[in-house]
Amino acid sequence: MSDASRPLPATVTVRLPDAEGNPGPPEAVPAVQKSDAEWRAELDPDAYRVLRAAATERPFCGRLLDQKSPGLYVCAGCGLPLFTSRHKFESGTGWPSFFAPFAPENVAEDRDESHGMVRTEIHCARCGGHLGHVFDDGPRPTGLRYCLNSVSLEFRPFSGSRT
Ligand SMILES: [Zn+2]
Repeated sequence: MSDASRPLPATVTVRLPDAEGNPGPPEAVPAVQKSDAEWRAELDPDAYRVLRAAATERPFCGRLLDQKSPGLYVCAGCGLPLFTSRHKFESGTGWPSFFAPFAPENVAEDRDESHGMVRTEIHCARCGGHLGHVFDDGPRPTGLRYCLNSVSLEFRPFSGSRT
């Protein structure tokens, strides 16, 4: 049973990036809802297992762990911006880590009691795709550590960036 099969409302309120890559105002957009068969056909198998079945990739092998260029990290399922390079930090865990989301509206949270632990699961607000977990042992200024699976994200360099 897919962890990400939770029902979504017809519309969700999220923030999309402005020309500088900063969060724009909140706006209501249609949720992205697809059948399990559609997701399975659209996503590569590794992304499907994480996004739609809440698997966790092995540490130190994700392709975005060492990505340090300026840009947005968008949902691999629906393209919604979820994190930015401005909030990425080296956590030493082996998974890409951020101390804040691109916009709080875009990353939804759920209590996760699987594997004998109580954790806070994070998922994409627009398509429900599983992203990883958030922990309260992160750096300043938030003290949060968003622990991501690389396959749940796609990296989009800031256009026109000179750095
Ligand atoms: Zn999504």
